[in-house]
Amino acid sequence: MGFFADSLNRIQPSATIAVATKARQLQAQGRDIISLSAGEPDFDTPVNIKEAAIRAMREGKTKYTDVDGIPELKAAIAAKFKRENGLAYETSQVSVGTGGKQVLYNALMATLNPGDEVVIPAPCWVSYADIVLLGGGKPVFAPCRIEDGYKLQPATLEKAITPQTKWFIFNAPCNPTGAAYSKGEVKALTDVLMRHSHVWVLTDDMYEHLLYDGHTFWTPVQVEPGLYERTLTMNGLSKAYCMTGWRLGYGAGPAPLIKAMCKLQSQSTSNPSSITQWAAVEALNGPQQFIEQHNKVFAQRRDLVVSMLNQARGLKCPKPEGAFYVYPSCEGLIGKTSAKGVRIANDEDFVTALLDEEGVACVHGAAFAMSPFFRISYATSTDALEEACNRIQRFCGNLR
Ligand code: PMP
Ligand code: GLU
Repeated sequence: MGFFADSLNRIQPSATIAVATKARQLQAQGRDIISLSAGEPDFDTPVNIKEAAIRAMREGKTKYTDVDGIPELKAAIAAKFKRENGLAYETSQVSVGTGGKQVLYNALMATLNPGDEVVIPAPCWVSYADIVLLGGGKPVFAPCRIEDGYKLQPATLEKAITPQTKWFIFNAPCNPTGAAYSKGEVKALTDVLMRHSHVWVLTDDMYEHLLYDGHTFWTPVQVEPGLYERTLTMNGLSKAYCMTGWRLGYGAGPAPLIKAMCKLQSQSTSNPSSITQWAAVEALNGPQQFIEQHNKVFAQRRDLVVSMLNQARGLKCPKPEGAFYVYPSCEGLIGKTSAKGVRIANDEDFVTALLDEEGVACVHGAAFAMSPFFRISYATSTDALEEACNRIQRFCGNLR
């Protein structure tokens, strides 16, 4: 028996954060690094949101608040769900946490018992499986093939569900693939879920607003109201509102679940920053036009990156509908040797050698539960992206 909790041995540090941290350290040492690792927009938080935070501080809104959010923010969140998703929630059905990550964490920790299974379409964001493992549950990956645009097929979902399934986690637009679903594609999945009334749905709508080429967003309960009583619809301000550092996320669902999540939060972090909460009220109620302006830039960057990666020898990169990630396959390069003599046996070797030899930081596919692929976040300047893609092309071209 060691000093540390056994549960900690079941998990890994977040790989996305680890790579982003390593890139920052190398930069601090003076190395020329282009980091395409962290999933965060390079755009600054809009001024009206910052001003609301400054106002809140001036007005002394600097004290403890209700654990899972001030009434004004819960009302703004309920209004957002009504306005954008046609969903009706009372404020007692809304929970606010320190980032979307805490909302997910609370929901899983408040509900998982040993042996409970959680179906997670793979590739998936790094933290789902580890939070499930920390909570004593069992992640069950449902593979999404590149041939299907990385979208979960109804038959694959059906096969993954067992009597032990407690949750199904859905995330679209998806981190790491950018895949998004049409209304019909969501319906095909909710039809499966309607046949399994014991399965709860945790939908991570973090990238709701980051959709391109006229694609429309559909959240599961909007498509299938029959799932309302067993769905937690989670969202946050980190991505579309460029507020990663402010730490604010939220969820809406059945009141007993929200109450249980609040109980847990009351014994861990208490309320999210009071100042951030007032900024969030402004973010949700204020002007939204900047999102469209950012999306125009993101779509151009996506097109650039997809085109340049597909010109790199051995890479195959589908063009995703949303988020700010692409997930190219590096299968064609496995087994080759780099210019510096490193043998590329898997996607982790690929990204490690790419960082070492060309100074481009990406995250290996194994971290997202599907190899051999890697993730690029294109939420960085167009010039940096172009230079990074040139380096990737050179790196791939030099592999023998
Ligand atoms: N869900 C997904 C799919 C994400 O990519 C992230 C990462 N930012 C989160 C949740 C957590 O977001 P937050 O920064 O608000 O905790
Ligand atoms: N979610 C972002 C990413 O995937 C930020 C880091 C994290 O929390 O995982 O890069």
